[in-house]
Amino acid sequence: MRRKLLIGNWKMNSSLAANTILLNGIKAGAGKTGCEMAVCVPAPYFAQCQAELTGSNIAWGAQDVSTHDIGPYTGEISVAMLRDFGCRYAIVGHSERRMNHGETDQVVAEKARRAIVNGITPVVCVGETLAQREAGKTAEVVGQQLDAVLSAIEPDDLWNIVIAYEPVWAIGTGKTASPQIAQEVHAILRAKLSARNSAAASGIPILYGGSLRPDNAREILQMHDIDGCLVGGASLNASDFLAIAAAAS
Ligand code: PEP
Repeated sequence: MRRKLLIGNWKMNSSLAANTILLNGIKAGAGKTGCEMAVCVPAPYFAQCQAELTGSNIAWGAQDVSTHDIGPYTGEISVAMLRDFGCRYAIVGHSERRMNHGETDQVVAEKARRAIVNGITPVVCVGETLAQREAGKTAEVVGQQLDAVLSAIEPDDLWNIVIAYEPVWAIGTGKTASPQIAQEVHAILRAKLSARNSAAASGIPILYGGSLRPDNAREILQMHDIDGCLVGGASLNASDFLAIAAAAS
């Protein structure tokens, strides 16, 4: 049995005051869900998460990380800085970073590599646009995105990685992939991981992300290769986030 994992991606939302309410709400219900939970928050809130979540069973992490260790990279945040604040995870290759910041597969791969080497678990996002899906290119696109990461890391590094399949057309749009579509892509991703390290691949959490809500999470999460989810909008509401966690477990 693979572990079930639910990660919230707050994106550029919330505030100190709102975070306190949200984190307390999640903490209050976390024990009952039986699934691992984490929140990936804007960097200014790492310290708050460390203060409020240490000792709980909820982890925290970043939404991005630099490809550099130190130096003249204005605005960037290194993996060592994430470690200073107890981050366990760093999302890399979210489609909003790929689209809005021109992140290539190679940049994403280097971010993932650097995170792993420094003891942070990367949550590697892959996903196709609507045009790519309609052109029948989903397997090719997600395959290339994952291959770039697999080429940058060692087979043993797969013991410390999370993959998230996030069809770009489903993010923040209210459209969710059908359970069958999502399962098909997750199986392709697991086969690729397995070709690199079959023992590790059978335990790698492959999360689904894209417009998940309490009312549509359960049917997606029942699928064999879907081990949890990466949740955007619904992670900003404690009761919605907990309801998705309950569906995951
Ligand atoms: C995301 O951006 O990672 C995401 C899944 O967003 P939403 O749940 O809002 O579609």
